Amino acid sequence: MMTLSSKIDLEDTLAALDLEGRLRLVAESGRPAVFTTSLGIEDQVLTGAIAMAGLPIRIVTLDTGRLFDETLQLIEDTEARFDITIERYRPRQEAVDTYVAEHGRNGFYESVEARHACCHIRKLEPLAQALEGAAYWITGLRRGQSGNRATTPFSEEDKARHLTKINPLADWSIEDIRAFAKTHEVPLNPLHERGYPSIGCAPCTRAIKPGEPERAGRWWWENDAKRECGLHVARAAR
Ligand code: SF4
Repeated sequence: MMTLSSKIDLEDTLAALDLEGRLRLVAESGRPAVFTTSLGIEDQVLTGAIAMAGLPIRIVTLDTGRLFDETLQLIEDTEARFDITIERYRPRQEAVDTYVAEHGRNGFYESVEARHACCHIRKLEPLAQALEGAAYWITGLRRGQSGNRATTPFSEEDKARHLTKINPLADWSIEDIRAFAKTHEVPLNPLHERGYPSIGCAPCTRAIKPGEPERAGRWWWENDAKRECGLHVARAAR
């Protein structure tokens, strides 16, 4: 079994493996690994790959309280399809109440700062809880998702969170993703068929137009080509 003892060649080691091999390398490292899923098609592929291989990797999602009904249903459908439990992490009600009192429930439309504040409460705080004690954080980041993600490596140190991020789908194309999902009957969000390649919170996601980048529908009212929610802080200049 290959190990993760040398960080120097981790990138090359991961690059040479197939998806299950990449996940297995992390799962069998002897250190805790957490996969955070947003239930998008990439994450569904990872969930399926982890579940079908029976790997000891925790699968968690951030239930922000503003998700699409289709996404909430997909959590249940995915658990049933793979006979797994997806752990839900939710924001602190007190923090949500304070935000709503100060900005309004949809205050994130008013300014980038108000949007970041909402993402902080509904996503970043629950994420920190979900990653507590983890040595590896597995994500569904893919180079083809946006210009901002075009150089996504297979592994990277997240110094702020004191862990190593593993991006096992970094070099996969959207065609690869769709083919895997079809072959393995991975349940998908029906919103993908309605023009939503990237799906986040309902009020902050719209369908994209033909020719637009995959993440153009996220926080579309903001005038910043590097729009991100802050989860992937090491790469994203928010
Ligand atoms: S995506 Fe929108 S609703 Fe969701 S946490 Fe961020 S600002 Fe709030």
